[in-house]
Amino acid sequence: MAGAKSVLFVTGLCPEGCYYCPISPQRKGRDVTFVNEVPVSDVRDIVDEIAASMSEGVGVTGGEPMLVLDRVVTAIRVLKEVFGKDFHIHLYTSGTGVSRSSLERLVSAGLDELRVHVLSKLSLDAVKTALEFPVDVVAENPVIPGSSKWLVELITELDRLGVRYVNLNELEVSELNADSLAMRGFKTSPNGRSVAGSRETALTVLMWVEDEGLEISVHYCPAIYKDRHQYPKRLNRRATATKRVFEEVEGGLVRWVELGHSGLARSLYLADMAIKLGEVFAIHPRIGRELRSGKVVEALPLSPRKVLNEYEVSEE
Ligand code: SF4
Repeated sequence: MAGAKSVLFVTGLCPEGCYYCPISPQRKGRDVTFVNEVPVSDVRDIVDEIAASMSEGVGVTGGEPMLVLDRVVTAIRVLKEVFGKDFHIHLYTSGTGVSRSSLERLVSAGLDELRVHVLSKLSLDAVKTALEFPVDVVAENPVIPGSSKWLVELITELDRLGVRYVNLNELEVSELNADSLAMRGFKTSPNGRSVAGSRETALTVLMWVEDEGLEISVHYCPAIYKDRHQYPKRLNRRATATKRVFEEVEGGLVRWVELGHSGLARSLYLADMAIKLGEVFAIHPRIGRELRSGKVVEALPLSPRKVLNEYEVSEE
């Protein structure tokens, strides 16, 4: 909720073919690794990016992370060594490659939690095997509209097995799955981010869980929540950690003011109030507003910065 966890997207490879898979075409089916929005090539890059994001934990996802088990085990071991035992690590899988031997390696590297996307008997077998290990076992599924009967049966079985909690995610619409969802007759919600009916199905299931008084906890995560809260908060942490002296941070973005070559810019530079940034001078937005001069640049706090907007100070 605090955006305090990074996302380690460890590979885009996956043996499943879920029609609702939301992974972008740039990642889907490709053996690429990202931390949040940043491509990384080795474990040192992973540590650097997680440090820059001031994260207190990581979710390892994909694709199917178990297809690159060696990479995952190395990452978990190194992250625990660098950030300490309280750095929380959870791993998503649909069950492929989950066995006693792979779980032994993951748990001894420091894995805290296994989150299983339940697709088949293989997934449920993975849940059962993982319950034998000292690791939290959780199920996490997108909610297909109209699937409440299946979800009720699944949650009943997970409760019987002793699973700690279930996350139900509102089904997201993305560039990749929009056509596939439309072909199956699903409609997009007015917010443009999720499938109509997913929320209502999830709420039906939550009410059933409450009425039954089950031990297991069931959580519902709306798609818009990630955009409006989790993502900006995660960006805000990275912006705060990597803020340059001439930048201010607001709403997950960084902002500075640029001045071209002029007498004013040179005077500010000589007075240590401006910094040379390539061909221009950069000043703090506070100074730009005071002087009512310069161009405001707004960017995502990535390395290098990804510019989103430019406008004159006078337009603020
Ligand atoms: S298991 Fe996950 S990554 Fe693989 S196809 Fe299904 S939704 Fe996509």
